[in-house]
Amino acid sequence: MRDLRISVTDHCNFRCVYCMPKAVFGTRYHFVGHEGLLTFEEIERLARQAALLGVTKIRLTGGEPLLRPHLEDLVAKLSHIQAIEDLALTTNASTLTPQKAAALRAAGLQRINISLDALDEDIFQKMNDVGFPVARVLQAIDDAAAAGLRVKINMVVRRNLNDSQIVPMAEHFRGTGHTLRFIEYMDVGNLNGWQRDDVVTAQEILSRIGDHWPLEPVNSQRYGEVATRYRYVDGQGEIGVISSISQPFCGSCTRARLSPEGQLYTCLFGTQGHDLRALLRSGATDEEIYAALAGIWRARDDRYSELRASTAPKGQKVEMFHIGG
Ligand code: SAM
Ligand code: SF4
Repeated sequence: MRDLRISVTDHCNFRCVYCMPKAVFGTRYHFVGHEGLLTFEEIERLARQAALLGVTKIRLTGGEPLLRPHLEDLVAKLSHIQAIEDLALTTNASTLTPQKAAALRAAGLQRINISLDALDEDIFQKMNDVGFPVARVLQAIDDAAAAGLRVKINMVVRRNLNDSQIVPMAEHFRGTGHTLRFIEYMDVGNLNGWQRDDVVTAQEILSRIGDHWPLEPVNSQRYGEVATRYRYVDGQGEIGVISSISQPFCGSCTRARLSPEGQLYTCLFGTQGHDLRALLRSGATDEEIYAALAGIWRARDDRYSELRASTAPKGQKVEMFHIGG
């Protein structure tokens, strides 16, 4: 376990069609209530034990993590854990103001991944499904960079929805210093109506971009890194592709995922979490928490993406907005 992804809320103000389709997540959907959420103190306690087990990298996610009030207070707590070398946030950036970006940076946040699926206004609004404009995300990207955060952009590609945006997005972010990462549309959860035909593979994405600007692989891959990196031959920066569908990377996965109510999942496609909130609230000692984490990790044998085509376990999988991708 090297990489802990912490989902701080399952609420979101977007209804991205590939993640929280409106038809399912309407006003009556039951999200985790305030009492059910792990407190920042509880999250910090778990993170400290996870760090003793080997975690060096923490990413905060959601739902939309910036909807959790005072997120910078959690960032400050986590940034004080000595073993944590890399502290990052994934967000739709809809509520990221210059002040918030500065507060997160001052609290110790190093990196931010901002999701943006299209530059075309109609396509982007169709994807977020709440009428959120592109310009505000672009502004937030600038604000994050101005606050001193290293910025990456995440684009999920779904055929016939936003694949026309692959080249315009590449063009826009070339030469900005922000790495654009293309994510293959995944069959996380049970509710997004995923079909293999909707996936645009990493190979196709690379070839579409390569037709305009030649690319070459970047070899300095860190173990457990999910994005395969490429650079523009003309020196205009890097892109990444995340090929969870076409080239699964279960064998080198070092990630654990904590849900907002304290369930630990050892796979993004997991059907069963491990209840750490009950343990925390039963008065467990740090040693007991450490032992529980170690036991869960040792017992893990997930390889959903590798088995997808054959004997992938059936059952209700955890939803993406719940554990944050
Ligand atoms: N709300 C934040 C955001 O959108 O950045 C953080 C949570 S979101 C679940 C994390 C990432 O997962 C986003 O970049 C989103 O685009 C991606 N994502 C959601 N559903 C996906 C799917 N079915 N396939 C691939 N990526 C997905
Ligand atoms: Fe919300 Fe992020 Fe899911 Fe979009 S991808 S619905 S912004 S959690």
